[in-house]
Amino acid sequence: KGSVRFENVTKRYDDVVALKPLTLDIQPGTLCTLLGPSGCGKTTTLRLIAGLEAASAGKIFIGGEDVTHLSATYRRVSMVFQSYALFPHMTVAENVAYGLNVKRMPRAEAASRAEAGLELVGLKGFGDRLPSELSGGQQQRVAVARAIVLEPEVLLLDEPLSNLDAKLRRHVREEIRQIQQRLGLTAVYVTHDQEEAMAVSDRIIVMKNAEIAQAGTPRDLYERPASSFIADFIGDANLLDVEVTQSDASSAAIRLLGHDYDLPRATAARGAAKMVLRPHHVRLNASPLSGSIPAEVTYAAYLGNSIQFTLSSPAGEIFAIAAPTDRPFAVGDTVHVTWQPEDIRLVAN
Ligand code: ADP
Ligand code: MG
Repeated sequence: KGSVRFENVTKRYDDVVALKPLTLDIQPGTLCTLLGPSGCGKTTTLRLIAGLEAASAGKIFIGGEDVTHLSATYRRVSMVFQSYALFPHMTVAENVAYGLNVKRMPRAEAASRAEAGLELVGLKGFGDRLPSELSGGQQQRVAVARAIVLEPEVLLLDEPLSNLDAKLRRHVREEIRQIQQRLGLTAVYVTHDQEEAMAVSDRIIVMKNAEIAQAGTPRDLYERPASSFIADFIGDANLLDVEVTQSDASSAAIRLLGHDYDLPRATAARGAAKMVLRPHHVRLNASPLSGSIPAEVTYAAYLGNSIQFTLSSPAGEIFAIAAPTDRPFAVGDTVHVTWQPEDIRLVAN
Protein backbone atom coordinates (compact mmCIF):
# COMPACT_ATOMS: atom_id res chain seq x y z
CA LYS A 1 0.00 0.00 0.00
CA GLY A 2 1.32 3.40 -0.99
CA SER A 3 4.68 2.35 -2.37
CA VAL A 4 5.78 3.76 -5.70
CA ARG A 5 8.16 1.96 -8.02
CA PHE A 6 9.58 2.94 -11.39
CA GLU A 7 11.37 0.35 -13.50
CA ASN A 8 13.39 1.94 -16.28
CA VAL A 9 10.69 4.49 -16.98
CA THR A 10 11.44 6.90 -19.80
CA LYS A 11 9.53 9.83 -21.23
CA ARG A 12 10.08 11.43 -24.60
CA TYR A 13 8.23 14.32 -26.19
CA ASP A 14 9.14 13.88 -29.84
CA ASP A 15 12.89 14.42 -29.78
CA VAL A 16 13.01 15.89 -26.25
CA VAL A 17 14.10 13.33 -23.66
CA ALA A 18 12.27 14.49 -20.53
CA LEU A 19 13.28 11.40 -18.55
CA LYS A 20 16.11 8.95 -19.16
CA PRO A 21 15.55 5.37 -17.93
CA LEU A 22 14.57 5.99 -14.31
CA THR A 23 14.38 3.37 -11.59
CA LEU A 24 13.19 4.38 -8.15
CA ASP A 25 11.51 2.99 -5.06
CA ILE A 26 9.48 5.07 -2.64
CA GLN A 27 8.57 3.39 0.65
CA PRO A 28 5.01 3.59 2.03
CA GLY A 29 4.42 6.30 4.61
CA THR A 30 7.51 8.31 3.66
CA LEU A 31 7.96 11.70 2.10
CA CYS A 32 10.31 11.53 -0.85
CA THR A 33 11.40 14.71 -2.60
CA LEU A 34 12.41 15.12 -6.22
CA LEU A 35 14.95 17.93 -6.14
CA GLY A 36 16.73 19.51 -9.06
CA PRO A 37 17.12 22.54 -11.27
CA SER A 38 14.32 23.66 -13.57
CA GLY A 39 13.81 21.37 -16.57
CA CYS A 40 15.41 18.26 -15.03
CA GLY A 41 12.21 16.19 -15.23
CA LYS A 42 10.58 16.56 -11.78
CA THR A 43 7.09 17.50 -12.94
CA THR A 44 7.26 14.87 -15.67
CA THR A 45 7.98 12.22 -13.00
CA LEU A 46 5.00 13.37 -10.90
CA ARG A 47 2.70 13.40 -13.90
CA LEU A 48 3.81 9.88 -14.76
CA ILE A 49 2.91 8.72 -11.22
CA ALA A 50 -0.46 10.47 -11.50
CA GLY A 51 -1.13 8.96 -14.92
CA LEU A 52 -1.43 12.41 -16.51
CA GLU A 53 1.34 11.35 -18.90
CA ALA A 54 1.97 7.92 -20.35
CA ALA A 55 5.44 6.43 -20.03
CA SER A 56 7.34 6.02 -23.31
CA ALA A 57 8.87 2.83 -21.90
CA GLY A 58 9.24 1.04 -18.58
CA LYS A 59 6.86 0.08 -15.80
CA ILE A 60 5.19 2.02 -12.98
CA PHE A 61 3.85 0.34 -9.83
CA ILE A 62 1.72 1.89 -7.09
CA GLY A 63 1.14 -0.22 -3.99
CA GLY A 64 2.68 -3.15 -5.85
CA GLU A 65 0.12 -2.93 -8.65
CA ASP A 66 1.29 -2.35 -12.21
CA VAL A 67 -0.46 0.92 -13.16
CA THR A 68 1.61 1.62 -16.29
CA HIS A 69 -1.47 1.41 -18.48
CA LEU A 70 -4.06 2.48 -15.90
CA SER A 71 -5.68 5.85 -16.59
CA ALA A 72 -5.39 8.72 -14.09
CA THR A 73 -9.00 8.33 -12.95
CA TYR A 74 -8.30 4.90 -11.52
CA ARG A 75 -5.00 5.69 -9.82
CA ARG A 76 -5.47 6.49 -6.18
CA VAL A 77 -3.30 9.59 -6.16
CA SER A 78 -4.02 13.28 -5.63
CA MET A 79 -1.93 16.18 -6.70
CA VAL A 80 -1.36 19.57 -5.10
CA PHE A 81 -0.20 22.19 -7.57
CA GLN A 82 1.94 25.27 -7.27
CA SER A 83 -1.00 27.53 -8.10
CA TYR A 84 -3.53 26.25 -5.60
CA ALA A 85 -6.14 26.06 -8.37
CA LEU A 86 -9.05 26.68 -6.01
CA PHE A 87 -12.39 27.52 -7.60
CA PRO A 88 -12.87 31.23 -6.75
CA HIS A 89 -16.68 31.16 -6.76
CA MET A 90 -16.97 28.17 -4.40
CA THR A 91 -16.63 28.37 -0.65
CA VAL A 92 -13.62 26.80 1.00
CA ALA A 93 -15.73 23.84 2.18
CA GLU A 94 -17.15 23.34 -1.33
CA ASN A 95 -13.64 23.42 -2.75
CA VAL A 96 -12.48 20.74 -0.34
CA ALA A 97 -15.57 18.60 -1.00
CA TYR A 98 -15.30 19.02 -4.77
CA GLY A 99 -13.43 15.80 -5.54
CA LEU A 100 -15.73 13.83 -3.25
CA ASN A 101 -18.81 15.22 -5.02
CA VAL A 102 -17.30 14.33 -8.38
CA LYS A 103 -17.00 10.80 -7.02
CA ARG A 104 -20.73 10.94 -6.17
CA MET A 105 -20.25 10.65 -2.45
CA PRO A 106 -23.50 11.55 -0.64
CA ARG A 107 -23.53 15.32 0.04
CA ALA A 108 -23.73 15.09 3.82
CA GLU A 109 -20.85 12.66 4.02
CA ALA A 110 -18.76 14.77 1.64
CA ALA A 111 -19.47 17.87 3.73
CA SER A 112 -18.47 16.20 6.97
CA ARG A 113 -15.30 14.80 5.42
CA ALA A 114 -14.46 18.26 4.07
CA GLU A 115 -14.91 19.69 7.55
CA ALA A 116 -12.60 17.05 8.99
CA GLY A 117 -10.07 17.82 6.25
CA LEU A 118 -10.14 21.52 7.07
CA GLU A 119 -9.63 20.77 10.73
CA LEU A 120 -6.63 18.65 9.83
CA VAL A 121 -4.93 21.58 8.11
CA GLY A 122 -5.82 23.98 10.90
CA LEU A 123 -8.66 25.73 9.09
CA LYS A 124 -11.62 24.64 11.17
CA GLY A 125 -14.32 27.30 10.91
CA PHE A 126 -13.08 28.71 7.58
CA GLY A 127 -15.39 26.55 5.45
CA ASP A 128 -17.92 29.28 4.62
CA ARG A 129 -15.35 31.76 3.35
CA LEU A 130 -14.38 32.30 -0.24
CA PRO A 131 -10.76 31.51 -1.23
CA SER A 132 -10.17 35.25 -1.82
CA GLU A 133 -10.89 35.84 1.87
CA LEU A 134 -7.91 33.67 2.88
CA SER A 135 -4.18 34.39 2.87
CA GLY A 136 -1.93 32.61 0.37
CA GLY A 137 -0.74 30.17 3.03
CA GLN A 138 -4.31 29.34 4.03
CA GLN A 139 -5.30 28.83 0.39
CA GLN A 140 -2.46 26.37 -0.06
CA ARG A 141 -3.63 24.50 3.05
CA VAL A 142 -7.10 24.29 1.50
CA ALA A 143 -5.50 22.75 -1.58
CA VAL A 144 -3.76 20.20 0.65
CA ALA A 145 -7.05 19.45 2.45
CA ARG A 146 -8.79 18.99 -0.90
CA ALA A 147 -6.15 16.45 -1.92
CA ILE A 148 -6.10 14.46 1.31
CA VAL A 149 -9.86 14.09 1.82
CA LEU A 150 -9.73 11.85 -1.25
CA GLU A 151 -7.64 9.48 0.90
CA PRO A 152 -5.07 8.97 -1.84
CA GLU A 153 -2.62 6.14 -1.67
CA VAL A 154 0.01 8.65 -2.78
CA LEU A 155 -0.04 12.43 -2.35
CA LEU A 156 1.84 14.36 -5.01
CA LEU A 157 2.96 17.94 -4.40
CA ASP A 158 4.48 19.98 -7.22
CA GLU A 159 6.38 22.99 -5.85
CA PRO A 160 3.49 23.62 -3.42
CA LEU A 161 5.11 26.59 -1.73
CA SER A 162 6.42 28.62 -4.63
CA ASN A 163 3.58 31.13 -4.54
CA LEU A 164 4.16 31.93 -0.88
CA ASP A 165 6.54 34.47 0.60
CA ALA A 166 9.64 33.24 2.40
CA LYS A 167 8.34 33.39 5.97
CA LEU A 168 5.11 31.56 5.13
CA ARG A 169 6.95 28.94 3.10
CA ARG A 170 8.74 27.74 6.15
CA HIS A 171 5.54 27.58 8.19
CA VAL A 172 3.48 25.78 5.55
CA ARG A 173 6.20 23.25 4.77
CA GLU A 174 6.27 22.26 8.45
CA GLU A 175 2.50 21.83 8.38
CA ILE A 176 2.62 19.68 5.26
CA ARG A 177 5.31 17.50 6.82
CA GLN A 178 3.36 17.15 10.08
CA ILE A 179 0.13 16.20 8.29
CA GLN A 180 2.01 13.66 6.13
CA GLN A 181 3.57 12.09 9.22
CA ARG A 182 0.40 12.15 11.30
CA LEU A 183 -1.61 10.41 8.58
CA GLY A 184 1.25 8.14 7.54
CA LEU A 185 0.79 9.27 3.93
CA THR A 186 3.15 8.39 1.13
CA ALA A 187 4.06 11.71 -0.45
CA VAL A 188 6.18 12.70 -3.43
CA TYR A 189 7.23 16.31 -3.14
CA VAL A 190 8.81 18.38 -5.88
CA THR A 191 10.99 21.41 -5.29
CA HIS A 192 14.06 23.12 -6.72
CA ASP A 193 14.92 24.51 -3.26
CA GLN A 194 17.50 22.34 -1.49
CA GLU A 195 16.82 23.79 1.94
CA GLU A 196 13.10 23.05 1.60
CA ALA A 197 13.92 19.52 0.45
CA MET A 198 16.20 18.95 3.44
CA ALA A 199 13.54 20.30 5.80
CA VAL A 200 10.64 18.06 4.76
CA SER A 201 12.08 14.82 3.39
CA ASP A 202 12.76 11.31 4.59
CA ARG A 203 14.58 10.80 1.32
CA ILE A 204 15.68 13.06 -1.50
CA ILE A 205 16.18 12.08 -5.12
CA VAL A 206 18.38 14.70 -6.73
CA MET A 207 17.79 14.93 -10.46
CA LYS A 208 19.92 16.52 -13.14
CA ASN A 209 19.55 16.36 -16.92
CA ALA A 210 16.58 13.98 -16.85
CA GLU A 211 18.22 11.42 -14.56
CA ILE A 212 19.05 10.72 -10.93
CA ALA A 213 22.26 12.37 -9.78
CA GLN A 214 22.13 10.88 -6.26
CA ALA A 215 19.46 9.64 -3.85
CA GLY A 216 19.58 9.37 -0.09
CA THR A 217 18.57 10.89 3.20
CA PRO A 218 19.28 14.59 3.65
CA ARG A 219 22.22 13.62 5.87
CA ASP A 220 23.63 11.13 3.30
CA LEU A 221 23.59 13.77 0.61
CA TYR A 222 25.19 16.43 2.75
CA GLU A 223 27.82 14.25 4.40
CA ARG A 224 28.58 11.90 1.52
CA PRO A 225 28.09 13.79 -1.73
CA ALA A 226 28.93 11.57 -4.69
CA SER A 227 29.91 14.39 -7.03
CA SER A 228 30.87 18.04 -7.04
CA PHE A 229 27.38 18.83 -8.38
CA ILE A 230 25.76 17.31 -5.26
CA ALA A 231 28.33 18.85 -2.91
CA ASP A 232 27.61 22.26 -4.35
CA PHE A 233 23.83 21.81 -4.67
CA ILE A 234 23.17 20.40 -1.17
CA GLY A 235 24.34 23.07 1.22
CA ASP A 236 27.23 25.42 0.60
CA ALA A 237 30.59 23.98 -0.34
CA ASN A 238 34.07 25.15 -1.18
CA LEU A 239 35.41 22.91 -3.95
CA LEU A 240 39.19 23.06 -4.06
CA ASP A 241 41.37 21.36 -6.69
CA VAL A 242 43.61 18.74 -5.12
CA GLU A 243 45.68 15.80 -6.19
CA VAL A 244 44.91 12.49 -4.51
CA THR A 245 48.34 10.95 -3.93
CA GLN A 246 47.22 7.88 -2.02
CA SER A 247 43.84 6.20 -1.70
CA ASP A 248 42.80 2.93 -0.13
CA ALA A 249 40.03 1.53 2.04
CA SER A 250 41.22 3.07 5.28
CA SER A 251 43.06 6.27 4.43
CA ALA A 252 43.95 8.77 1.76
CA ALA A 253 46.43 11.54 1.20
CA ILE A 254 46.01 14.67 -0.85
CA ARG A 255 48.31 17.41 -2.03
CA LEU A 256 47.13 20.99 -2.12
CA LEU A 257 49.41 23.95 -2.87
CA GLY A 258 52.51 21.84 -2.22
CA HIS A 259 51.31 20.62 1.20
CA ASP A 260 50.47 16.98 1.87
CA TYR A 261 47.45 16.18 4.03
CA ASP A 262 46.38 12.80 5.41
CA LEU A 263 42.68 12.03 5.41
CA PRO A 264 40.96 9.30 7.43
CA ARG A 265 39.26 7.58 4.49
CA ALA A 266 39.52 7.16 0.76
CA THR A 267 36.61 8.46 -1.25
CA ALA A 268 38.23 9.14 -4.59
CA ALA A 269 40.63 7.54 -7.00
CA ARG A 270 44.20 8.78 -7.35
CA GLY A 271 44.80 11.81 -9.48
CA ALA A 272 42.99 15.11 -9.82
CA ALA A 273 39.94 15.51 -7.58
CA LYS A 274 37.98 18.12 -5.72
CA MET A 275 38.08 18.56 -1.98
CA VAL A 276 34.74 19.49 -0.40
CA LEU A 277 35.21 21.94 2.45
CA ARG A 278 32.01 23.15 4.14
CA PRO A 279 32.06 26.85 5.12
CA HIS A 280 31.49 26.13 8.82
CA HIS A 281 34.44 23.73 8.83
CA VAL A 282 36.86 26.46 7.71
CA ARG A 283 38.96 27.66 10.63
CA LEU A 284 40.54 31.09 10.52
CA ASN A 285 43.75 31.61 12.43
CA ALA A 286 45.66 34.84 13.01
CA SER A 287 49.08 33.21 12.58
CA PRO A 288 50.37 30.47 10.29
CA LEU A 289 50.07 26.87 11.48
CA SER A 290 51.48 23.70 10.01
CA GLY A 291 49.73 23.11 6.67
CA SER A 292 47.65 26.31 6.85
CA ILE A 293 46.77 28.24 3.72
CA PRO A 294 47.21 32.01 3.75
CA ALA A 295 44.24 34.06 2.59
CA GLU A 296 43.05 37.63 2.52
CA VAL A 297 39.63 38.61 3.85
CA THR A 298 37.80 40.26 0.94
CA TYR A 299 34.36 40.38 2.51
CA ALA A 300 33.06 40.10 6.06
CA ALA A 301 29.41 40.26 7.13
CA TYR A 302 28.01 40.10 10.65
CA LEU A 303 24.66 38.25 10.40
CA GLY A 304 23.75 37.95 14.06
CA ASN A 305 23.98 34.20 14.44
CA SER A 306 27.13 33.97 12.35
CA ILE A 307 29.88 35.93 10.68
CA GLN A 308 30.44 35.15 7.02
CA PHE A 309 33.74 35.70 5.29
CA THR A 310 34.87 35.55 1.71
CA LEU A 311 38.59 34.86 1.45
CA SER A 312 40.97 35.12 -1.45
CA SER A 313 43.55 32.34 -1.29
CA PRO A 314 46.05 30.75 -3.68
CA ALA A 315 43.65 27.75 -3.78
CA GLY A 316 40.84 30.02 -4.99
CA GLU A 317 38.03 31.85 -3.26
CA ILE A 318 37.00 30.33 0.09
CA PHE A 319 33.70 30.96 1.82
CA ALA A 320 33.77 30.65 5.61
CA ILE A 321 31.17 30.84 8.34
CA ALA A 322 32.34 31.58 11.87
CA ALA A 323 30.56 31.90 15.18
CA PRO A 324 29.74 35.48 16.18
CA THR A 325 31.97 34.99 19.21
CA ASP A 326 34.99 34.13 17.06
CA ARG A 327 37.73 36.64 16.45
CA PRO A 328 36.31 39.41 14.25
CA PHE A 329 38.67 39.54 11.29
CA ALA A 330 38.17 42.53 8.98
CA VAL A 331 38.42 43.09 5.25
CA GLY A 332 42.08 43.33 4.30
CA ASP A 333 43.30 41.10 7.15
CA THR A 334 45.52 38.15 6.34
CA VAL A 335 44.26 34.91 7.91
CA HIS A 336 45.55 31.35 7.86
CA VAL A 337 43.01 28.70 6.93
CA THR A 338 42.97 25.25 8.50
CA TRP A 339 40.46 22.41 8.75
CA GLN A 340 40.00 19.05 10.47
CA PRO A 341 40.91 16.10 8.20
CA GLU A 342 37.71 14.22 9.20
CA ASP A 343 35.58 17.07 7.84
CA ILE A 344 36.98 16.71 4.33
CA ARG A 345 35.26 14.80 1.52
CA LEU A 346 36.74 14.10 -1.89
CA VAL A 347 34.72 13.98 -5.10
CA ALA A 348 35.71 13.39 -8.68
CA ASN A 349 36.62 16.41 -10.73
P1 ADP B 1 10.94 20.32 -14.10
O1 ADP B 1 9.60 20.08 -13.49
O2 ADP B 1 12.05 19.59 -13.41
O3 ADP B 1 11.26 21.78 -14.24
P2 ADP B 1 9.75 19.10 -16.47
O4 ADP B 1 9.49 17.72 -16.03
O5 ADP B 1 8.61 20.05 -16.50
O6 ADP B 1 10.94 19.72 -15.60
O7 ADP B 1 10.39 19.07 -17.92
C1 ADP B 1 11.47 18.23 -18.29
C2 ADP B 1 11.79 18.43 -19.77
O8 ADP B 1 10.72 18.01 -20.58
C3 ADP B 1 12.04 19.89 -20.12
O9 ADP B 1 13.07 19.94 -21.08
C4 ADP B 1 10.73 20.33 -20.73
O10 ADP B 1 10.92 21.36 -21.64
C5 ADP B 1 10.25 19.04 -21.41
N1 ADP B 1 8.78 18.96 -21.48
C6 ADP B 1 7.94 18.90 -20.43
N2 ADP B 1 6.65 18.81 -20.83
C7 ADP B 1 6.69 18.82 -22.19
C8 ADP B 1 5.70 18.76 -23.23
N3 ADP B 1 4.39 18.67 -22.94
N4 ADP B 1 6.13 18.81 -24.51
C9 ADP B 1 7.44 18.90 -24.81
N5 ADP B 1 8.42 18.95 -23.89
C10 ADP B 1 8.06 18.92 -22.60
MG1 MG C 1 8.15 21.47 -12.70
